[in-house]
Amino acid sequence: MPCYNTSCTIPTTGGFPNAFASAVQFFAASQCLVPEEALKNSHVHNKTHFDFIIVGAGSAGSVMANRLSEIKEWNILLLEAGGDPPIEASVPELDRNLRLSKYDWQYLTTNDGVIDQSVINGSINWPRGKIIGGTSNINAMIYVEGNDQDYQNWYNAGNLEWSVRDVRRCFKKSQSYQNQRLLQDEAISKHYGHNGPLALNIFNTTYRQVTEKNLKSWDDIGIKNVPDLNTANVMGSGILTATATNGERQSSNYQSHLSLAWKNQSEFKDLITKTFRLKDLVNYHSDTHDSFGMR
Ligand SMILES: Cc1cc2nc3c(=O)[nH]c(=O)nc-3n(C[C@H](O)[C@H](O)[C@H](O)COP(=O)(O)OP(=O)(O)OC[C@H]3O[C@@H](n4cnc5c(N)ncnc54)[C@H](O)[C@@H]3O)c2cc1C
Repeated sequence: MPCYNTSCTIPTTGGFPNAFASAVQFFAASQCLVPEEALKNSHVHNKTHFDFIIVGAGSAGSVMANRLSEIKEWNILLLEAGGDPPIEASVPELDRNLRLSKYDWQYLTTNDGVIDQSVINGSINWPRGKIIGGTSNINAMIYVEGNDQDYQNWYNAGNLEWSVRDVRRCFKKSQSYQNQRLLQDEAISKHYGHNGPLALNIFNTTYRQVTEKNLKSWDDIGIKNVPDLNTANVMGSGILTATATNGERQSSNYQSHLSLAWKNQSEFKDLITKTFRLKDLVNYHSDTHDSFGMR
């Protein structure tokens, strides 16, 4: 539009004009963040048979729905107590507004007489997403893989399918690493997957020079800077990888796993039932005694 090219006759300086300009820019850009097609409430028809019932369309449930839905013959029911994420879930930092809202289970910790004694009643808020995509909509988006030894411990404990090699293979399969600068580094490019549903990048930041100073301090005291923490087996200091790219959160919902599950099964939108009560599921099957007893 021509007005975008018009120069301003009265230059504005100071915090308020800048904040106002940022707000206008945010609302102009926010239309791009609206999911293309929000899931509709679906109905489970009488006597429907499901091969798998997944409880919770959160971080884990969305991945399971995606992977299981690759077998087209399987009928999957994905249950989620919350609804579609609001736009704040896509904008890093605005997720804080979702805490203690209807998108949060609003849990409080129990006073155990030991921790959190400096706060009233020794109890703090414990956010958990009640929303499609679960807590991945409201978390801090920090993507840190474990150290090899973490997975070796699992293997040593008898979990033979959870070797370092197998776990790393699954990580890579789920990733789509997007930082073009860091991808020039062969070790980083080799470490990450490139075609998975979960986009990874580093956060944009206005004050990178402050971060650089912090990093130098770590380096000075012997915790050496590394180009990428995950590639360095989480040994050292460096810029975090994030489940965010191009300024947008990459939660488990429409941005990544769940959208694929939806595509995998043409009728997937019928397999998600929002605000579905598990009690109903038990009652629903009670006539045939074919229930799983979930509540
Ligand atoms: C504030 C905060 C910051 C965090 N920051 C990070 C971070 O930076 N990096 C990191 O790796 N991890 C972080 N985490 C942790 C991480 O987000 C969680 O460990 C992870 O999302 C949990 O995944 P989940 O699948 O187990 O549960 P969730 O993602 O919470 O999914 C559970 C889903 O089940 C649904 N549900 C629950 N009960 C029912 C029911 N009865 N019927 C139907 N649906 C139900 C819920 O509504 C929810 O959608 C953070 C967590 C919080 C709270």
